[in-house]
Amino acid sequence: HSPIHVVGGGLAGSEAAWQIAESGIPVILHEMRGVRGTDAHKTDGLAELVCSNSFRSDDASSNAVGVLHAEMRLANSLIMRAADANQVPAGGALAVDREGFSAAVTAAIEGHPQITVVREEITGLPPEAWDQVIIATGPLTAPGLAAAIQERTGADSLAFFDAIAPIVHTHSIDMDICWHQSRYDKVGPGGTGKDYINCPMDEAQYNAFVDALIAADTTGFKEWEGTPYFDGCLPIEVMAERGRETLRHGPMKPMGLTNAHNPTVKPYAVVQLRQDNALGTLYNMVGFQTKLKYGAQAEIFRMIPGLQNAEFARLGGLHRNTYLQSPILLDRSLTLKGRPGLRFAGQITGCEGYVESASIGLLAGRFAAAERRGKAPSLPPETTAFGALLGHITGGHIVSDDEPGKRSFQPMNINFGLFPELEPGTITKPDGMKRFRGKDKALAKKQATAARALEACRQWLQASQ
Ligand code: FAD
Repeated sequence: HSPIHVVGGGLAGSEAAWQIAESGIPVILHEMRGVRGTDAHKTDGLAELVCSNSFRSDDASSNAVGVLHAEMRLANSLIMRAADANQVPAGGALAVDREGFSAAVTAAIEGHPQITVVREEITGLPPEAWDQVIIATGPLTAPGLAAAIQERTGADSLAFFDAIAPIVHTHSIDMDICWHQSRYDKVGPGGTGKDYINCPMDEAQYNAFVDALIAADTTGFKEWEGTPYFDGCLPIEVMAERGRETLRHGPMKPMGLTNAHNPTVKPYAVVQLRQDNALGTLYNMVGFQTKLKYGAQAEIFRMIPGLQNAEFARLGGLHRNTYLQSPILLDRSLTLKGRPGLRFAGQITGCEGYVESASIGLLAGRFAAAERRGKAPSLPPETTAFGALLGHITGGHIVSDDEPGKRSFQPMNINFGLFPELEPGTITKPDGMKRFRGKDKALAKKQATAARALEACRQWLQASQ
């Protein structure tokens, strides 16, 4: 077989290269870091995690991203293998030591006999001579390639901004005020139920904090004004502006937490910090993405009880996100319409998140490898998490190019809303349960959707071997 080219050695590109190579087909992986950096990456390692170290929930029984983890594990995912091998405790979440994780991916890719890594920037659309290519250059695709893609597609590839959460040195956190506890004492893989550090606030402290956030200077980015934020990654100052209670019902909610230093007084709000590295020397501020100016950040975050002397390893910041109008541009197997053999994968296709990006890389790799063998790509059933995400990106359910759904395409994390409804009658009241309440029904629905997904995924993988 002649090689398949993969452009970009991030989460998606590394996974795609691995899948192709494991199927016995040679891969040339082109990664520009080492020659040219990005605004967010700090190293030359493959699959570098640019912000949080969390792969989110690892619960495959009732959480959509947990289901995606499980499906990726079934499909021999390198990203999941490296994540599992480099876990740090984080309640029910799968969080990783970022350096160990990236080193494991880099070693596996560089050591694979079918993979050649070339450190170079691809500055335009890949030449026609590369008859099978996957572009996985991510939200920070280098400008030359981004311009070439835009010229070729003729459609707008949008840029908007998300924001990065700050990281604190653990030794600078005042543990006479803060305490270790996971919300509802939840114990995850390798965890203790005490994985987070919590900073309590009373009502006056909370109000002063919200006032300071609203009054603070933000970095002005005129070129991106008016661009929509992606919900779930709202900067805290934007949340504060939306209403005084917004933060207290969002990242600062006090539920499921008891102040170890003062158990009888319920905190009015809580800032949670999550372990960021294996050593436990760094903690990140959960949900505290921000575009405040650095000076303002340090000053305002030191108002948080327990962080009065905080030293920051990294302050929050802004980032660009480049993604395609995929439902219009790509077919169901992620191929650019009108250019057979040219696929896109990862965040540039309009999925959101490390896990989602890697999973789309996994699919693109399998599709390209099948085509190289002269077979039609085998698409995952829409009842799987793979299929649900792919359906969102490629818009398979939308029939006409004029449908409004296509034009309003937004990046999205995997969630149960993307899965098809269950067959009527799937959920029934369990024997012995008196009342089948809404909450129980919702959980039962998630569990049934998750179980259906994993079963369908097993069958699909078996059939497409
Ligand atoms: P990347 O992992 O960025 O990989 C793309 C690779 O392509 C990079 O290595 C880059 O150097 C290379 N490249 C780019 N252009 C070229 C070129 N022309 N030639 C050769 N190589 C090229 N997701 C989360 O789940 N949690 C988070 O906390 C989170 N925070 C984020 C913070 C920032 C600042 C950004 C930008 C994104 C964040 N994301 C986060 C979103 C997303 O999940 C990650 O960006 C993820 O890494 C995307 O995977 P990817 O493989 O598509 O892109």
